[in-house]
Amino acid sequence: EQRWSLKGMTALVTGGTRGIGFAIVEELAGFGARVYTCSRNEKELNERIKEWEGKGFSVSGSVCDLSSQDDREKLIGSVTSAFDGKLNILVNNAATVTLRKFVDYTPEDYSLIMNTNLHSPFHLCQLAHPLLKASGNGNIVFISSVAGLVALPILSVYSASKGAINQLTRNLACEWAKDNIRTNTVAPGGIRTSVGQNQPADPDVEEAYRDMFSRVPISRIGEPHEVSSLVAFLCLPTASYINGQVICVDGGLTAKG
Ligand code: NDP
Repeated sequence: EQRWSLKGMTALVTGGTRGIGFAIVEELAGFGARVYTCSRNEKELNERIKEWEGKGFSVSGSVCDLSSQDDREKLIGSVTSAFDGKLNILVNNAATVTLRKFVDYTPEDYSLIMNTNLHSPFHLCQLAHPLLKASGNGNIVFISSVAGLVALPILSVYSASKGAINQLTRNLACEWAKDNIRTNTVAPGGIRTSVGQNQPADPDVEEAYRDMFSRVPISRIGEPHEVSSLVAFLCLPTASYINGQVICVDGGLTAKG
């Protein structure tokens, strides 16, 4: 076993067509893993898979709406056939954001956010457990957010979903260590992606976020590859004693009082 290689390993990364997920697919494939990914947009997914093929990466995928239980079951079925019933790495990356003041959240907003960001990763872990166990060397990485650790403006329900992921990390790390499955979470700060681009512009909110970013010790937004590098590291054999941790990639945001 090589300490700094993922050669021979298999990975499922949810939401790999854009942003942080895209960078994670490339990072894991670059370390030699065979990767499976999914998103809701078939055209974009096929374009990405072609692009990865051109770069010499081994990536396959299928369309899946992770908020649907049926789709999740189909996804794990496809991964089971693609990788002969063994999965080394599950990266729960895909999530949805709705910016609202606390009193303005509708029951529909609440269900969509909790379903996509918490129930879906939870259920994927249940479905993938036999595959991760069968691999003999399993790794789960959740992507949560600094919003699961500190209060950011108009993100309460999203933050609750991410805070719950942070705690799932610790429980799974203890329950599944005996199956040789490690569980860790990467909590990004502000990263340059397409997230939230469909949200209406609100000058008050923009100012609140500008103010927040101006106080980040490394005073710039982060890039997706600055998150994917930690995800890959956590999955490497060299990280074999790291389990149950929530690690921020936030330029020092959460370190500052
Ligand atoms: P993007 O919106 O840029 O990308 C999200 C990816 O997930 C896309 O590939 C999208 O494809 C897919 N996706 C979203 N919803 C679903 C769904 N229901 N079913 C299947 N695929 C889905 O997001 P980011 O890269 O910014 O975010 C990735 C992770 O990082 C998330 O967990 C987010 O909460 C977290 N994060 C991001 C931060 C940031 O500043 N960007 C900060 C902190 C955390 P499609 O829409 O076609 O389905």
